[in-house]
Amino acid sequence: MKRFAVLQLSGCAGCEVALLNAEAWVAQYRLVYMPLVVSAEDVPEVDVLLISGGVRTDEDLYKLRRAVKKAQQVVAVGTCAISGGVANLGDRDDVRALFLAEKDRPHVPRLLPKSHPADAFVTVDLYVPGCPPTSELFMAVLTNPHDFQASKVVCQECGRQKLKDVKPAHLLGFQQGEVLPDVCLINQGYLCVGSSTRGGCRAPCPRAGHPCVGCRGPSDVFIEKESAAWFTSIKRVFATMTNVPEDEIERGLRSPQLALFLFQFSDYADNRTVGGGYHPRPKEKVL
Ligand code: SF4
Ligand code: SF4
Repeated sequence: MKRFAVLQLSGCAGCEVALLNAEAWVAQYRLVYMPLVVSAEDVPEVDVLLISGGVRTDEDLYKLRRAVKKAQQVVAVGTCAISGGVANLGDRDDVRALFLAEKDRPHVPRLLPKSHPADAFVTVDLYVPGCPPTSELFMAVLTNPHDFQASKVVCQECGRQKLKDVKPAHLLGFQQGEVLPDVCLINQGYLCVGSSTRGGCRAPCPRAGHPCVGCRGPSDVFIEKESAAWFTSIKRVFATMTNVPEDEIERGLRSPQLALFLFQFSDYADNRTVGGGYHPRPKEKVL
């Protein structure tokens, strides 16, 4: 039976919970290391190493460098390991000030000057974005990633209909209003960014009436470009489908709910100087 490990760096453990929900791998793989449920002194030799969380502390970096030496295949899973997410919030001045008070707490690992994605330090064979990736995506990683079928963007997996003649004048807040079934959330005034977000999650959020916040990152068209290209594309969709003033859309796109995902994927990768300079992540490596 194949063996896999999950190296948990700085993150929220949401990826691990999604993995545990994808229980079908139990018949094919043996989980030999994941501190949340399977402890061991160190990461043993494995066929697949899943890395979750960002490289936020010196301890993260130490563990990452050791673990990849024991793995045949290295997979970065989730927003934190790939594009920042909650781990990257530590680069904000206010959050850093809070954490830096740690110097009075000697048992907390030392923070690196900034957070990094896993591929700043090690070679990653496959990327699986999502916050967290769905159970189906985890199953695809562990069984046969090359056969995984996904739409290019979330809109194609959503099932809501875009109406040409219904144009809202303003945006609604995320949790406000009565959501109509079947009609595109943009037509209803919600800031949904599924139009240029990578498919593969099967659109659980817009299907349930909640706007897509883009946790799967940019679709293939934008994945090797700066995040500004993704941003421009989203604004173009809203300019076409709504009468909402541009500055209102801009403010909405930069709100905390969206800023956690929208502008980090490529910008965070741009900072990958530690491993020898920036190279766009090839779309062929992204599930
Ligand atoms: S914009 Fe959102 S609600 Fe509209 S079709 Fe796309 S994913 Fe669905
Ligand atoms: S619909 Fe959007 S926010 Fe929801 S899981 Fe998919 S990519 Fe993430």
